[in-house]
Amino acid sequence: MKEYLNLVGYAQPIYRKCELCSRVKDVSYRLDVKNAESSNMLVGSLDLCKVCAANMGEIIRIGG
Ligand SMILES: [Zn+2]
Repeated sequence: MKEYLNLVGYAQPIYRKCELCSRVKDVSYRLDVKNAESSNMLVGSLDLCKVCAANMGEIIRIGG
């Protein structure tokens, strides 16, 4: 699962809506979602706050 869900940190946090918890706060991470058939293709990405990124990180770790 790890190669299909890639969590990357922004060099500078962006103040905007977290796409997981819908709260407007400092968004520090982006979750890239790859195509299930090929990890070379990107389906899209979600901007995540620190809390959601930590949660997603755990899910990826457990699932992968
Ligand atoms: Zn969030």
